[in-house]
Amino acid sequence: LSERLQDSLKKIKGQATLTEANMDEMLREIRLALLEADVNFQVVKEFIANTKEKALGQDVLGSLKPGQVVVKVVHDELVELLGTSVSELDFSRKPTVIMMVGLQGSGKTTTSGKIAKLITKKYAKKPLLVAADIYRPAAVDQLKTLGQQLNVPVFEKGTDISAEDIVKQAMAYGQENQHDVIIVDTAGRLHIDEPLMQELQNIKEITNPSEILLVVDALTGQDIVNVAQSFNEHLSITGAVLTKLDGDSRGGGALSVRHITHVPIKFVGTGEKLDAIDLFYPDRMADRILGMGDVVSLVEKVQDVYDEKETMKTFNRMQQGTFGLDDMLEQMHQMRKLGPLSGIMKMIPGMPKLPNINDDDTDKKLKQTESIIYSMTQAERRDPSILNAKRKERIAKGCGRNVADVNRLIKQFEQSKLMMKQMGNLDPTTGMPTQKP
Ligand code: GDP
Ligand code: MG
Repeated sequence: LSERLQDSLKKIKGQATLTEANMDEMLREIRLALLEADVNFQVVKEFIANTKEKALGQDVLGSLKPGQVVVKVVHDELVELLGTSVSELDFSRKPTVIMMVGLQGSGKTTTSGKIAKLITKKYAKKPLLVAADIYRPAAVDQLKTLGQQLNVPVFEKGTDISAEDIVKQAMAYGQENQHDVIIVDTAGRLHIDEPLMQELQNIKEITNPSEILLVVDALTGQDIVNVAQSFNEHLSITGAVLTKLDGDSRGGGALSVRHITHVPIKFVGTGEKLDAIDLFYPDRMADRILGMGDVVSLVEKVQDVYDEKETMKTFNRMQQGTFGLDDMLEQMHQMRKLGPLSGIMKMIPGMPKLPNINDDDTDKKLKQTESIIYSMTQAERRDPSILNAKRKERIAKGCGRNVADVNRLIKQFEQSKLMMKQMGNLDPTTGMPTQKP
């Protein structure tokens, strides 16, 4: 899957602009990738249409590699669909009732235990677990066992009593014993049916829950859409939990659930153990669905920091031969933000090899250079050739250094101007020479 995307990337890479044709090829691959990740086909269709529009409108000039722009647009689109930010539980009401719903085997009981553990540790809550799945005696035992492991009380009345009566009693018990969170583990079915939905609606009415969390198995496949739709229609869920992400699933179900219900995904389950639960991070999930996290983080780094307009401005000045000290300083700042200078050089297309880069000294030198340049007038910065002995002395005094330092800076500038002149002959979008020497 990610191999295919990488191949498409390679094809686009090295071309100066994105054409409709090569975009289409890339998006076809992404479409297949999403379908393979079990994203619902309708969701995929809309996603591709949106992404195409955005990518075509993007200015790829100045980007280091145009193909990365497409991946970034796709990634950002995914994050937006998945919810942008992390969503936590709503504890604003006392007691906070959390009702767990979902198909049989989706992970309701396990996740109830996980949440009980998490909120005990993280928020110092005093939860009560309620065994409201009365259709399988084993279900009650399972929750009791979990409660013992966690040292969290479990309210249970066996299976000869209605679920509605159990939760009524549990609410009273919770109040008496000052439980600030009541987690209701409900019954599931292999398939959705009306009696179950009716029972869940009754429980909702009795407990007035702050959260109704739909638990879905990440391995559900295309049917996840119907499950999400059904539960949401009947119960107006407040959030979802995607379980079994420790398996092979790429997590495409997260997209489908979001698309259908628009509720936040609050947790992901990553194993059978009781601490195998995590908040849901949309950007991580986007990386997972695409299967190319490294590429994406590189794109973001480059795009965030290496401001395109500044780069273009500098390149234009190089080509016009009007590269001045302010430009040099600007460049030093941009590069500093990217990380160690020696590493950055390798990322810039066409950058000639520089022999004496000492990363440890770079910060100190940058500060020195700054102080000297800031002591110059605009005219001097634009054209350092006007710097005579008198001016140099004034500048040295102004920044508390000596004339030798100023001379060193001018020498450095001349070298960098020479280098820039070489680079000015390179096309900034491709890093290729614009004319053969
Ligand atoms: P319920 O019927 O909805 O209550 O589902 P259970 O909580 O009983 O879970 C069904 C099975 O899935 C059990 O064997 C759990 O151990 C397993 N399970 C639940 N969550 C996860 C998870 O995040 N990862 C893995 N690998 N297994 C899970
Ligand atoms: Mg259960």
